Amino acid sequence: MPAMNRHDLEKFISGFARFQQHHYGDDPALINELRQGQHPRTLLIGCCDSRVDPGYMIGAEPGDIFVSRNVGNLVPPCSPDDGGFHGVSAAIQFALQNIKVERIIILGHAQCGGIRALMCPEPQHSDEPDFVRRWMNIAEPAKRSTQAKFHDASIEVQCRACEQSSILNSLNNLMTFPWVKEAVKEERLTVHGWYFDLAAGELLAYSDRTGVFLPMVCALEQSGPDKRLARATTP
Ligand SMILES: [Zn+2]
Repeated sequence: MPAMNRHDLEKFISGFARFQQHHYGDDPALINELRQGQHPRTLLIGCCDSRVDPGYMIGAEPGDIFVSRNVGNLVPPCSPDDGGFHGVSAAIQFALQNIKVERIIILGHAQCGGIRALMCPEPQHSDEPDFVRRWMNIAEPAKRSTQAKFHDASIEVQCRACEQSSILNSLNNLMTFPWVKEAVKEERLTVHGWYFDLAAGELLAYSDRTGVFLPMVCALEQSGPDKRLARATTP
């Protein structure tokens, strides 16, 4: 086993030991509660990207968020008859029907490898299955609208625009699921599009009112520590 892999495993095992000591030893109240079942109020759909761990980023405790992660943080349209295997759709159904979550957050991010693969597809050299390409086709409407709007822009600008547009595409797809549509209509559920600007260290949210992503937590260099959360709102 390469040295780096062994180092990773040692780090993860000692990390679990710290988690165990805290939640099962020093302060078992939360785990005692969670032993009875889970009641998260939020479904978070995020990307597989190792730099965007939603629970770690937003300070969630065990039991706070029901999470579904996939390449590109995509939500497919509801398509029960296509014969495929639907991991994200199953997570949405479970979260709505069994857990009865009150909100869904789609958390996109800057420098997304899935979106880059969609915007700059590599030529295919073999007949091997390309699951990433097929999966990312879900965001094809976002790619088309981005290319129409930003056709003269750099690929970096186009990728960022597509990352954000893809969140809106996924929010639209969410509404094709009957349990989501019904719960939103009955005001039992709210849906949110968030975008983590990894380079700037900023968290933005889509604002229906303005039609753009606005900072909820500004980058550190843009404001002093006391003003950092001044614009924090939930659009
Ligand atoms: Zn990503």
